[in-house]
Amino acid sequence: MELSPRVTRIQPSPSTAAAQRVRELRAAGHEILDLTVGEPDFDTPSSVKAAAVEAIDRGETKYTPVNGIPQLRSAISDKLLQRQKVRYPVEQITVGGGAKQVIFLALMATLRTGDEVVVPAPYWVSYPDMVLANDGIPVVVQCPASDGFKLTASALADAITPATRWVILNAPSNPTGAAYSVAELRALADVLLDHPHVMVLTDEIYDEIWYDDTPIASLVEVEPRLVDRVFVTNGVSKTYAMTGWRIGYGAGPSELVAAINKLQSQSSSCPSSVSQSAAVAALTGDQSFVSDAVAVYRARRDEVVKRINDIPGLSCTSPSGGFYVFVSCGEVDDEKFCLELLESQRVAVIHGAAYGAPGHFRVSFATSNAVLTEACERIARACASKG
Ligand code: PLP
Repeated sequence: MELSPRVTRIQPSPSTAAAQRVRELRAAGHEILDLTVGEPDFDTPSSVKAAAVEAIDRGETKYTPVNGIPQLRSAISDKLLQRQKVRYPVEQITVGGGAKQVIFLALMATLRTGDEVVVPAPYWVSYPDMVLANDGIPVVVQCPASDGFKLTASALADAITPATRWVILNAPSNPTGAAYSVAELRALADVLLDHPHVMVLTDEIYDEIWYDDTPIASLVEVEPRLVDRVFVTNGVSKTYAMTGWRIGYGAGPSELVAAINKLQSQSSSCPSSVSQSAAVAALTGDQSFVSDAVAVYRARRDEVVKRINDIPGLSCTSPSGGFYVFVSCGEVDDEKFCLELLESQRVAVIHGAAYGAPGHFRVSFATSNAVLTEACERIARACASKG
């Protein structure tokens, strides 16, 4: 079959491919310790599940408004007020089938052939391919460990050209867990103020999975003059263990949100009605699920970081947020190392090149302590056998 260039120029998501490989090996009878997981190992809170059942019983099983039910957009507006210190009117909020779909539609709504999108590396695996699928050019900017894996103001200034349409900032980052301080955002904002043609997409899907004492900073709070050029994306997947419910959202300039709604009206029509009611319950209900989950993640993070740094040849910093540790394996070929780890020790991790950062691999600690402890021991064994 002849496929479109937009499909042939992209790759399937490496994280989805890794998950598939784990499934295949398990189906063949192998016991695999899976550290590739990009989702909480907790169940969705029971109050959220109950809200979905109630929505079904009330007959809320039909199409909803394209951009999501008003109650959900109002709950999102409250959440954004708390987080960004900006009151987004509900008309400037759109709900889609996961943050992934919202980001994809934002790029589809804005990119013209050859438009550039600045993607700081290490990046979430999907950004470059999403840009390519929508006829843009990903401009990958390497952000080394010495810069905390973060985009600096001077690297941003160097990357911007007249063709730049977007800069994507993801904090806390998948895969590094890094997030920008107020001072770092201030410096980036100063560059952005000099380049009014550039929009910023801030992917904040891990914002509630946060370990530092200082609250996570927000670009629009640091520089309110950027509010009309920032598109904030987030969702309920990671915070409330709701990856399968597929609810994400975006907030930003009216024209962009209207364009996304137009695309959604001609593609999925609307997000799942039942999932939207569940998301309202998640956002407006008791938030103790989140703090309890963060406490568990924090203990795992500390344990994994310690164990990894005890292994000769490996090193990592402690992530400020999210549930991943990005490990340096020095000069070792990361892809080969990860393959050997899987074949010889039955431990699955994702190689750094998938995130635009060879010489690393990503460990997810969204799994049980027992699995993490055993996996770290096996990783140590794999490293020892390499000498
Ligand atoms: N952004 C980042 C950085 C992610 O890691 C993920 C999921 O892995 C997403 C967005 C997508 O989340 P959702 O489930 O809302 O589509």
